[in-house]
Amino acid sequence: MRYIRPLSMEDAVGQLAGSPGTTAILAGGSDLLVRMKGGFIEPDLIVDIKAIDGLGEIRETAEGFSIGAAVSCALMGESAALKREWPGVVEAAKLIGSKQVQGRCTIVGNLCNASPAADSVPALVAAGARALIIGPGGRRTVAVEAVPTGPGKTSLAKGEIIEAILLDRRAPRSGDAYLRFIPRTEMDIAVVSAGVNLTLDEQGVVKSARVALGAAAPTVLLVEEAAEALIGRKLDEAALERLAKVCSGACRPIDDKRGTVEFRRKVAGVLARRAATTAYTRAGGK
Ligand SMILES: Cc1cc2nc3c(=O)[nH]c(=O)nc-3n(C[C@H](O)[C@H](O)[C@H](O)COP(=O)(O)OP(=O)(O)OC[C@H]3O[C@@H](n4cnc5c(N)ncnc54)[C@H](O)[C@@H]3O)c2cc1C
Repeated sequence: MRYIRPLSMEDAVGQLAGSPGTTAILAGGSDLLVRMKGGFIEPDLIVDIKAIDGLGEIRETAEGFSIGAAVSCALMGESAALKREWPGVVEAAKLIGSKQVQGRCTIVGNLCNASPAADSVPALVAAGARALIIGPGGRRTVAVEAVPTGPGKTSLAKGEIIEAILLDRRAPRSGDAYLRFIPRTEMDIAVVSAGVNLTLDEQGVVKSARVALGAAAPTVLLVEEAAEALIGRKLDEAALERLAKVCSGACRPIDDKRGTVEFRRKVAGVLARRAATTAYTRAGGK
């Protein structure tokens, strides 16, 4: 097994693309090392991306935020500007594991591990986040929901690395929120989860919305009908009822010891409703 710590993206991409065997990218390592120790993967080449210039930074641009692929979830929680504009994304990142795990783990690792229960992914999908990808063919940008294609699988080609997650600057009167259900208070995997992102007009009517559910299908679900249940209305009881019903209906969850299909469907609706209420209040809705 070869371990390298390149200083540039070009070198990292070249090494990954040119390696004949199994390769892995090491960010925080909180998934990769666990999978290696469990014997599920034995990479021939490990490319540690943490020394690459700029990858550990959160940058504010005219368009919004660029969160480097080596930025830890703990660092995201220390960015006042990011927390002010995207509190739901930050609260999702800050739910991952424990303080110790958050000091290492990244939202890009969370996305690329491709667990249906990954906490930051529904919040990122609801936020309309994009992944900036660099590979042997150059750079491209895709919606984050296009990255995981199934449990443990991504659409990334050989040699491709996610360089950053891009979040837009917020329109006035916008808010987002993320909630998950776990049977204890922390250090557990979401049984089901919901992320909601809203923008209101001056009267408090929802102008645009995105609703995403986690652990409800093999990949995170972006539920367009749920957004439609909110758009054009204030967040009244009828809108919330419709949102909950649509979200429960959209779920295609598994049945396991952590939750039955029926339970997951019910809780998806409840969480979507609560997350929408928080997002609405954060957007200044009354
Ligand atoms: C004790 C513990 C508790 C946990 N609790 C939670 C939890 O509550 N919620 C949750 O969602 N997860 C949880 N996890 C899982 C894990 O911490 C997260 O998924 C984390 O965000 C992974 O980030 P990382 O940087 O450590 O990824 P890594 O382990 O470094 O990488 C994960 C995968 O992504 C790939 N990858 C990493 N960076 C890139 C990149 N830039 N481009 C392309 N591919 C890349 C790697 O090759 C690997 O396949 C927990 C893990 C542990 C050990």
